[in-house]
Amino acid sequence: MNTIEERLKMIRESLPEDVTLVAVSKTKSVEEIRIAYDAGQRIFGENKVQEMTSKYERLPKDILWHMIGHVQSNKVKHMAPYVNLIHGVHKMKLLKEINKCAKRENRVIHCLLQLKIAKENTKFGMDVETMNNILTSEEYAQMENVKIIGLMGMATFTDSKKQIRSEFEFLKKNFDSFAKTHPELTVLSMGMSGDYHIAIECGSTMVRIGSKIFGERQYH
Ligand SMILES: *Cc1c(COP(=O)(O)O)cnc(C)c1O
Repeated sequence: MNTIEERLKMIRESLPEDVTLVAVSKTKSVEEIRIAYDAGQRIFGENKVQEMTSKYERLPKDILWHMIGHVQSNKVKHMAPYVNLIHGVHKMKLLKEINKCAKRENRVIHCLLQLKIAKENTKFGMDVETMNNILTSEEYAQMENVKIIGLMGMATFTDSKKQIRSEFEFLKKNFDSFAKTHPELTVLSMGMSGDYHIAIECGSTMVRIGSKIFGERQYH
């Protein structure tokens, strides 16, 4: 059994320099997050707004909080004052709400659009056409308080490395093609504990790792 510090160090050392590590701390205590913080980690990912906000209030203010979960529009206001990056934007309506809440806080909130790459229906995300429509829309062009800085995706939960690779390659291919016309897209968030090696080989710039750092979760 390694400690949180040791596992964090091992993962950091295995990541290429240009890949950002999001330590996924959902369901974990502030004490456990504090250990990772004291070991130098500053970016943490959570999937529930309420849980993230309560941790934000109890932990040092130089932590960058990433929302990696499926967000309901009515929860955006609670994280708008402090959230650093919202990974899973899956529809225009949510983007509009983020813009509205960010405006009230006098902030520009960075977001990633989530592309659906998995076969499973439980995973959210939009198709390529919807993504293109948003990026080229007049409506988005008018939004002053959100900035889409990249894409995010989650591969199917499967033992087939071949399938995971082909889903990540699909995401990377679309990321590259959108980035040609939208050079502000620089972040490609893909890869979790079980598949981040493949994700990095496929061009990930940001990995979201939870259980490999903090240990298995008891629930969700
Ligand atoms: C929970 C979660 C992760 C981290 O999962 P692990 O397998 O524990 O690394 C990454 N991304 C999202 C969107 C998650 O919900």
